[in-house]
Amino acid sequence: MQNLWSETRAIELVETYAGRGVTEDVALRVYTTRLLGSVPSLVRHGGGNTSVKTVMTDIVGDQWDVLCVKGSGWDMAVIEPAGLPAVKLPPLLKARKLSKLSDEEMVALQRSSLIDPASPNPSVETLLHAFLPHKFVDHTHSTAILSLVDQENSEEICAKVFGNSLGFVPYVKPGFDLAKAAAVIFEARPDVEGLILDKHGIFTFAETAALSYGRMIDAVRRAESHISETGRTVFPARAFSSNPVKAEYILPTLRGAVSRPFNGNENIRFISSCRQSPEIMNFVNGRELTSYASRGVSTPDLVIRMKNRPLILPAPGYGELRKFSDCVKDAVSSYITDYEHYFGRCNAFDDIERKQLDPLPRLVLVPEVGIVGLGQSKRDAEICADIGEIFIEAVTGAEMIGTFAPLSEEEIFKLEYWSLEQAKLKSQSFKPLSGNVVLITGGAGAIGRATSRRFAEEGAEVVIFDLDEKKAQEVAHELGNYALAIGGDVTKVEDVDRAFISTIREFGGLDIVVSNAGAACQGEIGELEDRELRKSFELNFFAHQSIAQHAVEIFKQQGIGGALLFNTSKQAINPGPGLGAYGAPKAATLFLCRQYALEYGHIGVRANAVNADRIRSGLLTDEMIASRAKARKVTEREYMSGNLLGREVTADDVAQAFINHALALSTTGDVTTVDGGNIAAVLR
Ligand code: ZN
Repeated sequence: MQNLWSETRAIELVETYAGRGVTEDVALRVYTTRLLGSVPSLVRHGGGNTSVKTVMTDIVGDQWDVLCVKGSGWDMAVIEPAGLPAVKLPPLLKARKLSKLSDEEMVALQRSSLIDPASPNPSVETLLHAFLPHKFVDHTHSTAILSLVDQENSEEICAKVFGNSLGFVPYVKPGFDLAKAAAVIFEARPDVEGLILDKHGIFTFAETAALSYGRMIDAVRRAESHISETGRTVFPARAFSSNPVKAEYILPTLRGAVSRPFNGNENIRFISSCRQSPEIMNFVNGRELTSYASRGVSTPDLVIRMKNRPLILPAPGYGELRKFSDCVKDAVSSYITDYEHYFGRCNAFDDIERKQLDPLPRLVLVPEVGIVGLGQSKRDAEICADIGEIFIEAVTGAEMIGTFAPLSEEEIFKLEYWSLEQAKLKSQSFKPLSGNVVLITGGAGAIGRATSRRFAEEGAEVVIFDLDEKKAQEVAHELGNYALAIGGDVTKVEDVDRAFISTIREFGGLDIVVSNAGAACQGEIGELEDRELRKSFELNFFAHQSIAQHAVEIFKQQGIGGALLFNTSKQAINPGPGLGAYGAPKAATLFLCRQYALEYGHIGVRANAVNADRIRSGLLTDEMIASRAKARKVTEREYMSGNLLGREVTADDVAQAFINHALALSTTGDVTTVDGGNIAAVLR
């Protein structure tokens, strides 16, 4: 553990913030908070907080002693002064004398004492910060410290490692009671530089930001040295396969097994984040994996991200993937049953009425493959995989020096169902297609781009597959988040293979394909060169078949249905002069769509088509519009809106039709016409 403090950087930051009216105290608090937040083994996704005691003036000019403490929802690595809301200190200190303070009262007290009522909620550990007298207080859930405190004899180990420099606080659930308990222990020995919180983490404090931060780093460094000096090599491996199964072979199976209806929502889908590293592989390949990985979480607040324990699967083997698939389904079913029992058991300990959360796993350990984080968005899946990595780090350290012995399941349960912890997840917003993965071919063209954007707006994870890789990347960049751009040719099977493998590696599976790539070629059918017609069939028919075949293979593996959406064209139904080479394969693609609807409906796969006409795009460019309008002696506007509704049809209209199909769970074999009305092209 490196001490990253730089006097020059600290001064620079103080000067920068001074120009924005931020005091030196707060600027330095921002600086060391960022230093702590930048190290994953110290702080990850809400697992830590900091504070500074200073003076501030309220709106009417009164000066107050305040505690600027980390606000919920802020990431310490990139915190700004606004992420350290100022809470008036006197009311917080007064609360110390109370014998009881409910969670709701604690939140009310904290919020009503804010200098700026628009601030985010101060941390649930605010009172602990307030009750300690030091100016700067730092708190982390350092994995090295957790390796020491997640032991039966944690107090003894800490005494050996830290001597008298740190106090030791037995486990108490965070909140008012912990704040009081910690204050009592501190006051008994006010010369300590920090407090160890059993099964939870560490606090350090001092009069300056540099010293409080330095004490944190020193303590963590000591814990790390203890682990490396006295620790033994852990996790003797089971017998390895010389040719381990690649993640893409098992992720769709896993995704299918965990995507189960819950609370009336039949369309729950999970995105995955699969990771490997030497530390992860050492952990998941251990012979005793089930023992050390099933005892609980390394620090209580991980429970809201990874549940009370991870799901552990057997090692998959090539040639036995069908058997593995059954094993995964069984393992998920037992996980669910175990979770329901755990809920029932722990809920019975008191009279509080609780509603069971979904019983599905979030972190999965797969020998020879790695860890898989699951979430209803790629972001949540990544967070879960991050949490998995720090869990592994803490458990590995604990097993190196002794036996990993985390908090009891009853205490873990209390934290999982603590309203103040669940509130941290409230920022997750679910949209109609959250958890769904969509692959869009021709995703960088006019219709593809509009469709990509609409699917992203509805919450789906989007893969843009396009011949033009650079443009695909531009679209992915526009969408932000985790949109994936893949350059490739839909008529080349190796490119299509690569696109599907990349999609699975990135997101874990697939739900919707928009088979949209196409191009028109012109010429009277009687004079057309054979080569031209065959080329058009490659792109406008065979590529659709190749994409659909690849998708269906994944849909079968997942076993949770899927949607095949084809961009056919008016030409499939109503031929235009000179467009035979385009219309013939499109008509075949419309038939293809119906064939898929017929043959795969029984596994929940829906196949639908969109018949769009006269959309301004790569197929109908501005120049083409101008020349056609001229030929028909109408204005461009008249040409584009020459339909029953008298309105120009846009790429967004087509995108909306694909969205409608994606959401219509009872519709298959359908063709949606998006042409503003053309009686000659009406389906009959
Ligand atoms: Zn904590």
